[in-house]
Amino acid sequence: MKTFQDIVNLKDKKVLLRVDFDVPVSDRGKIEESFRIRKQKETLDYLIGHGSKVIMVAHISDQSVDQSFAALIPQLHILLGYEVNFIKSVEDIEQYLQDYSGPALLENIRQFKGETENSEEFASSLSKGFDIYVNNVFAVCHRNHASVSAITKFLTSYAGFLIEEEVTKLQKAINAPKNGKLLIMGGAKASTKIPVIKNFLDKVDRILIGGVIANDILKAKGQDVGDSVVDENSLEILVGLDLNSPQLVMPKDYNIFQNKILDIGPESIEEFSEIIRSAKMIIWNGPMGMFENPQFAQGTDKIAQAIADSSAIKIVGGGDTVSAIDKTGLIGKFDFVSTGGGAMLAFLAGEKLPGLEALHYYV
Ligand code: ADP
Ligand code: MG
Repeated sequence: MKTFQDIVNLKDKKVLLRVDFDVPVSDRGKIEESFRIRKQKETLDYLIGHGSKVIMVAHISDQSVDQSFAALIPQLHILLGYEVNFIKSVEDIEQYLQDYSGPALLENIRQFKGETENSEEFASSLSKGFDIYVNNVFAVCHRNHASVSAITKFLTSYAGFLIEEEVTKLQKAINAPKNGKLLIMGGAKASTKIPVIKNFLDKVDRILIGGVIANDILKAKGQDVGDSVVDENSLEILVGLDLNSPQLVMPKDYNIFQNKILDIGPESIEEFSEIIRSAKMIIWNGPMGMFENPQFAQGTDKIAQAIADSSAIKIVGGGDTVSAIDKTGLIGKFDFVSTGGGAMLAFLAGEKLPGLEALHYYV
């Protein structure tokens, strides 16, 4: 992978910078949680500090694909410390680069046809006028999208600081000795989480299970889960996982409301916290319950606190997990907070990520 150290001179280089501004936005257009935006500052500062002409490209998936970046521009200015201009369409980029007047952001890339199809035609038109491409969006690297994959066929491509950091820190987690390594899995989406559990069974001491994933496993074991949320494909996805493996630690009790399991219960919190205390490395993804409602946030908050108090190396990732701990103010206690959810899990499961592969092959 090429990094900034490989670029001879950044002065006046026209840089297409793929950033991650995929944050939760309220109905009234307010950025509610800005971790991913703040993580872009290092690379942006470096490029601007070296005199590059930077156009940023990003997507926003919250609410609907129609979410526009136009309303977020003043907030980006405050968060990034730069005035950011807004470019409405791909056709306007070349002219903007000629009359360059400071960093700019293109409209939500997912509004343009060809992005999610990884269209080469679209990537080619997006590349016009630029000298180089820098990928700084880890959270999309598990997807074959034009602005992380096909684009690398048209411009010399580099990994930004964020990609470098994600890959280095997560690789350390993969390589750490099995002894004392703990995986904590919660949240929903069996299709992304169960493969990770399967892959990690022989790589960690234990796997603590919570969230909808626990419901899925209970159901697969033939237990009654009432009206709890379950993944409709979970039975198929669970095939091949030994549900009775002693390494899989299921909750002992649950917080049940209106016939739905909505959080882990007090005994589970105690047992999980005990296991967390003796771990040497902890990898956490997925809330223990429906934490958005404070009534069912106990499990997630107390597990976050137990991890924060432990002396283990702590790694956490996932959009919802990170916003849950950002709210508790514990984010600074973690050794590494990944901007990726699905991408972090895919990487940790040993899969090849199209966005990272593209940086290897087409530079
Ligand atoms: P992340 O974004 O951190 O990877 P996920 O998107 O997989 O996490 O899961 C987060 C969602 O799972 C949250 O919206 C949370 O409310 C939900 N959730 C967790 N446990 C339960 C449960 N028992 N019942 C319903 N929803 C749950
Ligand atoms: Mg999520």
